Amino acid sequence: MSEFDLIKRYFTRPAPGATLGVGDDAALLRIADGMELAVSTDILVSGTHFLPDTDPFLLGHKTLAVNLSDLAAMGADPRWATLALSLPKADEDWLQQFSAGFFALADEHGVELVGGDTTRGPLNLCVAIMGEVPAGKALRRSGARAGDDIWVSGRLGMAALGLAHLQGRVVLPEDTRSACLAALHRPQPRVALGMALRDIAHAAIDISDGLLADLGHILECSQLGAEIQFELIPKAGGEGIDEVLFRQCVLAGGDDYELCFTASAERRGEIEAVAGKLQLPLARIGSICAKQGCMVRAGDGSEIKITESGYDHFK
Ligand code: ADP
Ligand code: MG
Repeated sequence: MSEFDLIKRYFTRPAPGATLGVGDDAALLRIADGMELAVSTDILVSGTHFLPDTDPFLLGHKTLAVNLSDLAAMGADPRWATLALSLPKADEDWLQQFSAGFFALADEHGVELVGGDTTRGPLNLCVAIMGEVPAGKALRRSGARAGDDIWVSGRLGMAALGLAHLQGRVVLPEDTRSACLAALHRPQPRVALGMALRDIAHAAIDISDGLLADLGHILECSQLGAEIQFELIPKAGGEGIDEVLFRQCVLAGGDDYELCFTASAERRGEIEAVAGKLQLPLARIGSICAKQGCMVRAGDGSEIKITESGYDHFK
C-alpha cells in the first residue's frame, strides 16, 4: 500500500467544519468572530508513553485523548486536529483499529481530522489539536489566588496503579484492577468540565505528569503555595497495596488526565452543580496560600513527603 493510499483509506474523512481538510498542502480553517484559537500538541513515543504491544484501538483513543485533555484544561471547545505518524510498517489491521479508536473519540467530541504527515520510522504518534474559546475566557495556569479552593475531577493515581500492575510492581485486587487499567488505556478527557469552568475557575491544568508536578505548575505560574489533605483526594481503595507506592501513584503518578483547578470559596455551590450536571465527581482537596511550596498532610496532620513529584523526561 502506498503512503497516499494509506492516508486515503485510514485518515481521510469529511471535515464539514473546515474550509479545506485532508488532501492539499495545508488545511484551511476559519474561527468564529470573538473566539480565540487554542492550539496544543502532544507526542506519544512507543516505549515511553505506551507499551509497544498496546491494543491499537486503545492507542488511537489515547493519542487523541491526551491532546483533548490539554484543550479541556484551557476551557476550549475542540474543533480540529492534525496527526503526524511515524510507523515501522503499513500494517493494515493495526491501522484499521488505530484509526477506529482515534475517530470514535473524535466523533464524540466533534473533532475533525484536517491533516497530518505519514512517514516510516519507529512508532511515534503526534497530534496537534485546535479549539475555540471565547476571547479572554481561557483558563490559564497563572490565575490562582491566595485563599482559593483546590479541586480535582475523578480519581487520581488510577492509571499509575494500572501501569504498576502491568509492570508487576503491585498486584491489584480484581475490582480495582479493571478500573485502573481502564484509566490507563481509556482516559476520558474532561472537555465538558473545562468549558463549564470558564467563568468559574481562576486557574486550571490537566494532570498528566502527576498531581504535585502539575499543581506545582499552577503554583509557580501564580507565585503561590498550597496545602493539600491526602485523605480528601479521591482515589482507589489502598487496602493491600504498599503505602509508599500507593501514595506515590496518587500524588505523582502520570496519565490521570483529570483536571486540577482553583476557584474562590464562593463558587462551591456552582461547582457542585457542575459536578451533578456532568455526573463527574469533583473534590475539594485543599487550598492555595501565599506561602510558596506545596504541603501534603496525612489524616493525622503529619506531612507526607514523596521522593519523586512527577514524571520528567530529562531527569
Ligand atoms: P506534503 O508532502 O505536501 O506535506 P503529504 O503528502 O505529507 O503532503 O500529505 C498529503 C495530505 O494528506 C496532506 O493534506 C496532509 O495533511 C494529509 N495527511 C498526511 N498524513 C496524514 C495523516 N496521518 N492523517 C491525516 N492527514 C494526513
Ligand atoms: Mg506540500
